[in-house]
Amino acid sequence: MISDTIREFILNDVRERFLRYVQVHTTSNENNDVTPSTQHQWDLLKMLKDELAGLGLQNVEISEHGYVYATLPSTDGAKAAPFALLAHVDTSPDQPGEHVKPQRHEKWDGKAITFPDDPSLKLTPNDSPELSLFKGETIITASGKTLLGADDKAGVAEIMAAMATFQKFPELPHGEIRVCFTPDEEIGRGTIKIDGDKLPKFCYTLDGGFPGELEDENFDAWRVDMKFKGIGVHPGYAKDKMINAAVVASRYVAHLPEWKTPEHTEKREGFIHVVSINGDFENAAVTAIVRDFEEENNKVTIEYMETLAKTYEKRFPGLAIELKVTHQYENMRDIVRKTPEVVDLADKAMRDAGVEPIRKSIRGGTDGARLTQLGHPTPNIFAGGLMFHSRREWIAESAMVKAVETVLHLAKGWVENGVK
Ligand SMILES: [Zn+2]
Repeated sequence: MISDTIREFILNDVRERFLRYVQVHTTSNENNDVTPSTQHQWDLLKMLKDELAGLGLQNVEISEHGYVYATLPSTDGAKAAPFALLAHVDTSPDQPGEHVKPQRHEKWDGKAITFPDDPSLKLTPNDSPELSLFKGETIITASGKTLLGADDKAGVAEIMAAMATFQKFPELPHGEIRVCFTPDEEIGRGTIKIDGDKLPKFCYTLDGGFPGELEDENFDAWRVDMKFKGIGVHPGYAKDKMINAAVVASRYVAHLPEWKTPEHTEKREGFIHVVSINGDFENAAVTAIVRDFEEENNKVTIEYMETLAKTYEKRFPGLAIELKVTHQYENMRDIVRKTPEVVDLADKAMRDAGVEPIRKSIRGGTDGARLTQLGHPTPNIFAGGLMFHSRREWIAESAMVKAVETVLHLAKGWVENGVK
């Protein structure tokens, strides 16, 4: 389906876009309550809106909060359920994202990659083992002072390149495709102002990850806010009277299982993460987040925390512990699996593009998880980059091409799937 001519068009188009988009400063800022959280994100959002219109997409619009929407109408005679492709324009506040100077390392020879703006920085397969799979290919990095922003400008460039390819080669079949670019994903607010009515039922994010990554599962997430109310007495006359809230709270935290912390868990294991402890002898507050792929396991953990609190109240008569438990987000798995074709078609599209699918579980939440809860099953498809949120972030050009090819095959797959 994809001729050499098409493949060459994709490579040139996705490369040109990626190198251009990463140079636009789009760092988000969690300390700012507006959406987008930073004014400079508008620069790329408006640029994308104009380029989508320039490509001939329809209903191109940008919302007051910076969400860009557009429609690629289906090819003649194609009947398929519509789907949406999403990517986020912002980059992580963990590293500088201004004045990104992308470096192309053509026909990379396998030796350590160096960075012109920081001679002490190196990138080798020791740092990122996947690198060795791309020997002889073109690798793109930043220049040493900033992150690259492949998370998620690779996804943005790939979606745009797919749209450009569909327009240039109308023989590639597809149904209606919606495009949506979002701000503020890196600060956990990528979907708070999204308009679900503007999206079809099925969506895909193109974000992160090694070629082949396909994610349809994320943590089930809870937050526990605890207040410890002690009894304050003049310390000189406190015997058998004082209950020191700060001391009791730290004892409580020390009682939580050490093996069940983020620093001692991986893969499918859940954890309790104490985010903060604050307090004095009269009042103390502990905030913890509880994570697992199974909601049942989280409920057991939270019950344990509640029982432990009651035990402490018995042990220190007069102490009051208040727990506020909040369900933050759910595992998208159970909703996504009710319509298995959304993942099956992505799996097949990757194979058709010559990429072996790697099914992964996200040890966190995603925009896709929140969208899934809004009724839009949204698995995640790789965008191709690695070592995100660091100055050694990198991506291979061939990985971006594979992501675009996956989108082309995905669209064909939905046409073959028909309307049910
Ligand atoms: Zn991302």
